Amino acid sequence: MIMVMVICEECLYTDKKVEFVKNSDYCKECICDHSMCPNCKSAYHTVTITE
Ligand SMILES: [Zn+2]
Ligand SMILES: [Zn+2]
Repeated sequence: MIMVMVICEECLYTDKKVEFVKNSDYCKECICDHSMCPNCKSAYHTVTITE
């Protein structure tokens, strides 16, 4: 499993992408569920996948 680290642009919280995915919730901007910051609960829109 590849560890992808992401950073929240709102609060600069950094954690594994899986932690952001775990906090997925409905986003009314995107009309779908996606990752949210576990720390500030803001929608995460700039996920960078490093393969
Ligand atoms: Zn969204
Ligand atoms: Zn945040």
